Amino acid sequence: MKATVDADLFLFDLDGTIYLGDKPIEGAIDTLKKLTAMGKKVCFLTNNSSKDKREYVKKISSMGYPVDLWQIVTSTMAAVQFLHTRRPSKSVYPIGTPTFVQTLEEEGVPISEDADIVLLAFDTTLTYEKLWKANILLEKGREFIATHPDTVCPSDIGDMPDVGAMMALFECSCGRAPSIICGKPYSPMAEIIGHLFDIPKERICMIGDRLYTDILFGINNGYQSVLVLSGETTKEMLSASGIKPSFVFDSVVSLVKED
Ligand SMILES: [Mg+2]
Repeated sequence: MKATVDADLFLFDLDGTIYLGDKPIEGAIDTLKKLTAMGKKVCFLTNNSSKDKREYVKKISSMGYPVDLWQIVTSTMAAVQFLHTRRPSKSVYPIGTPTFVQTLEEEGVPISEDADIVLLAFDTTLTYEKLWKANILLEKGREFIATHPDTVCPSDIGDMPDVGAMMALFECSCGRAPSIICGKPYSPMAEIIGHLFDIPKERICMIGDRLYTDILFGINNGYQSVLVLSGETTKEMLSASGIKPSFVFDSVVSLVKED
């Protein structure tokens, strides 16, 4: 048994890469177990800032791969790390789920209605009032930061408008776009990886199904990258795109080769 990509840390996207909704992709769980048995570090990297790390631990573990908290990295963590290191003691007005707001509180990020920063996350509890309050702050010139750029989040019954779609809304209502985006493919997500793992970037491999987040993240940060065709991207989309991964596999199963 051998890994087909020569790396020590394997960063996996989740939806479209490990599972589709609540269903694991065929052979994916087995592949994760094999990589772990080979002594590879396996980590899951998600841009979804609506959920807590513990929810991912529960979901992946219930599929048959026992996972620890350290193996989950979210765009929320990248945002918190960015705020602590680059915007210490600045307050934020969060547009996010109660889980997101709770994480900010636990991590000691000051929250205020009249904040220095509008922090836009994937808010499945969004209200008109939150949009309005954020718009007022943005019109006053407060800094605008988003957790990630994805336009939609896939679901079993149809795509959910995600942070990228809300960014388009604010672009329309006040002519503002975020000055910083924290998740894949941007550098705050790589900074949190560098902070958590002492592994040279050429020994890191990013595996995912989305070109403009997962694969671009690998390319931007000097990692190896694997596009899997088990999710969003088709062969046609890949050939039409300027974003070229190091490897293209049908699914994560091809990451392990039997001798
Ligand atoms: Mg995905």
